[in-house]
Amino acid sequence: MAEAGEVTAMECVYKNPNESVEDRIQDLLQRMTVEEKIGQMTQIHRGVTSAAVIKDFFIGSVCNSAGKSGNDVMSEDWAEMIDGFQTAALETRLAIPIIYGLDAVHGNNKFYGTTIFPHNIGLGATRDYDLARRIGSATALEVRASGAHWVFAPCVAVCKDPRWGRCLESYSEDTNVVCNMTSIVSGLQGTPPEGHPAGYPFLAGRNNVVACAKHFVGDGGTEMGKNEGDTVASYEDLERIHMAPYLKCLAQGVSAVMPSYSRWNGSQLHGDRFLLTEILKDKLGFKGCLVSDWSGIDKMGQPRGSNYRGCVEAAINAGIDMVMVPYTYEKFINELTSLVKDGKILMSRIDDAVERILRLKFTAGLFEHPFSDKSLLKFVGCKEHREIAREAVRKSLVLLKNGKNSEKPFLPLDRNAKRVLVAGTHADDLGFQCGGWSKTWQGQSGRITIGTTVLDAVKAIVGAETEVVYEKNPSEETLANKDFSYAIVVVGEPPYAESRGDDPEPSIHFNGAEVVRMVAEKIPTVAILMTGRPVVLEPTMLEKVEALVGAWLPGTEGSGIADVVFGDYDFTGKLPMSWFRETKQLPMNAEADGYDPLFPLGFGLKCKKE
Ligand code: BGC
Repeated sequence: MAEAGEVTAMECVYKNPNESVEDRIQDLLQRMTVEEKIGQMTQIHRGVTSAAVIKDFFIGSVCNSAGKSGNDVMSEDWAEMIDGFQTAALETRLAIPIIYGLDAVHGNNKFYGTTIFPHNIGLGATRDYDLARRIGSATALEVRASGAHWVFAPCVAVCKDPRWGRCLESYSEDTNVVCNMTSIVSGLQGTPPEGHPAGYPFLAGRNNVVACAKHFVGDGGTEMGKNEGDTVASYEDLERIHMAPYLKCLAQGVSAVMPSYSRWNGSQLHGDRFLLTEILKDKLGFKGCLVSDWSGIDKMGQPRGSNYRGCVEAAINAGIDMVMVPYTYEKFINELTSLVKDGKILMSRIDDAVERILRLKFTAGLFEHPFSDKSLLKFVGCKEHREIAREAVRKSLVLLKNGKNSEKPFLPLDRNAKRVLVAGTHADDLGFQCGGWSKTWQGQSGRITIGTTVLDAVKAIVGAETEVVYEKNPSEETLANKDFSYAIVVVGEPPYAESRGDDPEPSIHFNGAEVVRMVAEKIPTVAILMTGRPVVLEPTMLEKVEALVGAWLPGTEGSGIADVVFGDYDFTGKLPMSWFRETKQLPMNAEADGYDPLFPLGFGLKCKKE
């Protein structure tokens, strides 16, 4: 016998998968109290989450991944934790499942042993839109294996200035390239059937994850490339340059969108009703869920002298449906409840937000399949996924120089050379090779997970007779006394994420340029750059090297680099960004008169003559 107030499966439309999503939403919505509705709008960090918190506050969503330096978090442990949260959610009066979201921005990058794909900037260099889709599918499987249902990806920023610390998260400075790379959405969520209405959330099945296009809109266009800065642009330019990729995502049924921390002509996106509601929801027809960025509401308060109540009111009335709080949920819930009570936020706005959240959950199949699927664990870091990542690395490499004169190409390298030198800070550092958003938010140095460095890959590809000498910082003695056929020097930037990556002078760190110069003076050298963006290249270094390769942030599969520099595959990558000569040229505009880059947008040599 059902207890009073308890809802039985027999009697309710929302529990019946044969009913339409819209009917299920309406049926559930009219059963919900204001507390339950506001709880659905609240997304909290897993660190403050417990069964009691979920039940007491009717929490709708939990977020984030591992992330503590030195901690190896395994997918299976995460799935167990999320299932525990889910059990609590299903014990609430209406048994509305939680949806768990995390930042899988280049593979399920925060866990041990997963496949880490090149960062978006490298994928943009591939111009391979089917590859992006396959990467999305592989990522979806590895995310589902860790029990999560939702990824805060893809970032579809059009990065106009490499001084921006999130340039690595952008596919290109070219809107068309970014638009085409949004095919990753169809990999993550699955491809919607013909005739699927644009803007309506879609999810193919249990092997897929809810995607979230971010950060709406103009995050890549801020002045001086300042993270969370101001994008000064006419509406027409904002639409043409920065909004176009969102239309592509909506056409594929992207289920969520995250507003940007940045401003547009001084207006904070988190409180911009015109862009969030009138444009994104009304004009473009987005029917999914608008989830705030991390502490997005608190951050709104910083320039406004922390009028928290005013910020909550502005954000919800602007159109934000779910708030990534992530810690101070009681404060948020109390404030929102009081704003509703005082009539500052209308019940119709709350209902609209909850409808969108429920739409996300119903289309994601969470009511039918709330728990993780252990059979997916076999996909974590599996051979097939690593092969896709390796292919992506191969295709992302941009050959910037090959031989001191065009008649005598230097690459591909001879795999049967007598003795080769491998050097540089990034030659044998998997953490550096993966960059930020890898295991931890900011990334870190060292053997952070399973993968192959350039040194590992070179050792594996050369002939049995070839001696591989590795010195991170080769001494004068080594350079003078050994007879090397050639040197491979891998240098670049340290890992970083978000504002910590902002750099007025993006460059090669740790004296890398000097190491390259020093080695190249003595030994014919190919320099491989691992950076999240174009960086300053000293003319003397450029002149001294025989060959130069832009490898971006390749992720776990360093073998893809050896595949190409040793000639098993040719170079096909094309610059996703204009390579500036000096930072005073920034931002560069490939369409403007006087465009004078070191290497233009789309540049990339091949080894083989066509
Ligand atoms: C970033 C988002 C990310 C969120 C959740 C924020 O700081 O701007 O891109 O999805 O954190 O981790």
